[in-house]
Parts: sequence; C-alpha cells; structure tokens
Amino acid sequence: MLDYFQITEALSPEDRQTQTVARDFMEAEASDSVLDWWESGEFPEQLVPKMGEMGFLGANLPTEYGASGVSNVAYGLIMYELERIDSGFRSFASVQGALVMYPIYRYGSEEQKRTYLPQLAAGQMIGCFGLTEHDGGSDPGAMKTRARRDGESYILNGVKMWITNGNIADIAIIWAKDDDDVVRGFVVPTDTPGFQANHIKHKMSMRASVTSELVMDEVRIPASQMLPETRGLSAPLSCLTQARYGIAWGALGALEAVYEDALSFSQHRSTFDKPIASRQLVQTKLVDMVTDHTNGLLLAWRLGVLKDAGTMHHTQVSMAKRKNVRVALNAARSAREILGGSGITLEHPTIRHMLNLETVDTYEGTHDVHTLILGRDITGHNALV
Ligand SMILES: Cc1cc2nc3c(=O)[nH]c(=O)nc-3n(C[C@H](O)[C@H](O)[C@H](O)COP(=O)(O)OP(=O)(O)OC[C@H]3O[C@@H](n4cnc5c(N)ncnc54)[C@H](O)[C@@H]3O)c2cc1C
Repeated sequence: MLDYFQITEALSPEDRQTQTVARDFMEAEASDSVLDWWESGEFPEQLVPKMGEMGFLGANLPTEYGASGVSNVAYGLIMYELERIDSGFRSFASVQGALVMYPIYRYGSEEQKRTYLPQLAAGQMIGCFGLTEHDGGSDPGAMKTRARRDGESYILNGVKMWITNGNIADIAIIWAKDDDDVVRGFVVPTDTPGFQANHIKHKMSMRASVTSELVMDEVRIPASQMLPETRGLSAPLSCLTQARYGIAWGALGALEAVYEDALSFSQHRSTFDKPIASRQLVQTKLVDMVTDHTNGLLLAWRLGVLKDAGTMHHTQVSMAKRKNVRVALNAARSAREILGGSGITLEHPTIRHMLNLETVDTYEGTHDVHTLILGRDITGHNALV
C-alpha cells in the first residue's frame, strides 16, 4: 500500500495479512477485466461467491454467523483494496456487509440471523438496502413507503430509488413507516409477488455496479420478516455509519490507484526533452495527492482503532467520509490533468475512478450533508433541517 508515514507498522500482523490477501485476490481476479466490465456496464456477479470464500463479506461481523470476525482496521483495509480496483466492488461489499448483514445482526431475531447471515457471508445470497426514495435521499425521514399490518402479515407499498445490487438481490432490507408512523426495517425476499426491480441505465459513474429502482405494490410478507429491534430512523442511520466507515478507507484505495497512474505516466512522458515529472507544476499535484492520501490514511486508521475500542462517534465517521472522498475525487481530477489527452480514455484507470468518485461523494450522505452534520456537532446549531 502507498504508505508514506509507515502506518503499516502500526497494524497487527493479522491485519497486514488480510490486506495482502485482499490485494492479491483483486489483482488476480479483477484488475485485468475491470475496464471491460465498467465499459459494458456489468457487475461481475461470478466473483461474489469467491469474495465470500475469501471472507470479505461482512468481514468484521462475528464468526458464529459465518463471517470472518476480523478487526475493524482489517475490514477497512479490505475496503481499501476493493476500491483500489473499482468503487463498484467496494460498493457491493459495503451494501452486503454494512447495509444488509449489519442490520440483520444488530436488529434481527436470532432466527433471522441464523437464516440469513451465513448465506450472505458466503456470497450464496445477495442483499440490497432500500432507504432512498425519489423525493430526496438526504431527508430519509420524509419516506413515503408504508408497511401496513394485516393479521400476521405486513403489506408494503412504495418506491425506492438508486438501490445498489437491486436487480441481483435475493433479499432487500426495506425501510418503511408502519401504521404508527414509526420507521421499521423488513427483510423482503425479492421474489415476493408485487416486488419489482428496475435497472437504472445510462449511468456515467459506478458502471461496474448494479443500481436499481425498487417498486413495491402490495407486497405481502410474514410479520416475522420485520427486524424486531428497528424502531425509528436511528436504525437505518446506524447502518449508514457502518458503510461510511468502509468508504473512508475505500476512497483512499482509489486515491492510490490514480496517484500511481499519474506518477508513472509523468515519469515516462517527456515534453521539451524532459519528463513532465521534473516540472514543478506536476510535482505540486503529485505532492498534494500523496499528502492527502497520508492524512486520509491516518484519519482512517485512527477511526478504525476507535471503532475497535467501541468508542467511535458517528460524527467522526462523517468527517472521515467527507474528507477522504473529496480528496480522492480531487486527486483523480489532478491525475486526469497530468495524463493529458491520455487521461480521457479507459486505458488508464484514472477517469473511471474519477467518475465513480462522483457517486461516492454523493451517496451515503453528500459532502454538504456531512458538512452540516459536523457543523451542527461543533456549533450546536442545526443548519441541516
Ligand atoms: C450509484 C448510487 C448508488 C446508491 N445506492 C444506494 C443504496 O444502495 N441504497 C439507498 O438507500 N440509497 C442509495 N443511493 C442514494 C444516495 O444515498 C442518495 O443519492 C444521496 O443520499 C443523495 O440523495 P439525492 O440523490 O436524493 O439528493 P438530494 O437529497 O436531493 O440532494 C441534492 C443536493 O441538495 C443538497 N442538499 C440536500 N439537503 C440539503 C440541506 N438541508 N442543506 C443544503 N444542501 C442540501 C445535497 O447536498 C445535494 O447536493 C445511491 C446513489 C447512487 C448515485
């Protein structure tokens, strides 16, 4: 890993080993084909059981439910390695682990945990997380999706938008308001009558990732499919904290990829008889990239240590997600500039990362929404609502 401040020395041997395994796996299985998958708008579903076998799915959850039980730092390093190849892989793993397995683990019944978690960890089952709706993702409390109680069933009606994995999911974690207007989570098998996933086409970002609209029309599920411990918006928000934690690490993997691309190009490309790497303006860009990566890695690593100690606060996650994604996006734009005309083709990974990072900057709380979360925390004044 790009590691200017020798942060690797602070990692345990197990955490380092996990990262090495993840890097080797992604190099062997994905690095050569990712360009084609991205260009054709395809998520390589065939890799999912392999990722499960490697223990990458919900890796920081306990082994008793089939997960790997690695530290949160190791989990972050896995996210780093997935996103170093493409944000689509990290998105898949974030959704499967932090947004599907975590809510079942944290808010589910023992039976739900035993039914779903081992299959999800093994990659034998795919999940998605339906919170966002057409009328605005930044304000999930305004959701219109309803869960009406009818005897021993719930009947779900509503539409979810921008749902990662939607078309390939076997189950969906759907957030809906019950008859008392309380937000609840439901595990909905996607083959339930009335449930439909519509592929979102024409994306110019996250092309190696499936994104869908979910339409639910009188979807009847047993009442036992409700996650019993979910009560209010804090439940889905706590899941987002888990996913954002992984993004804070993952974005740095993308930053490493674009930095390495730009550095290598600048050393081989000459203008006016000198490599462009010898030019001060180019060096400034490279120095900013590596400095931002170093700062970000310190932030992510410290966040992981706090998470492992059980003292991490969600505003700290907001800060790390907001900052690390934005510096990665800026680095990708700078790298694209260093590459000149070559930077506009997919032959170089940079523009693919740059376009992916536009999504990463927006989803899981936009950059500005995290600014307002932090502003509220620091000043005590709420500028968000
Ligand atoms: C590829 C992709 C995958 C996704 N996957 C999932 C998924 O799996 N599950 C899921 O539930 N959602 C998913 N999302 C949705 C994502 O979380 C939302 O797009 C995001 O929360 C922003 O919501 P929005 O797009 O509705 O924008 P809006 O909320 O409409 O925001 C539009 C703009 O207004 C700004 N804004 C909003 N409110 C305020 C305010 N109070 N003050 C100042 N500015 C404000 C925002 O910062 C933004 O710039 C995904 C999105 C994408 C693009």
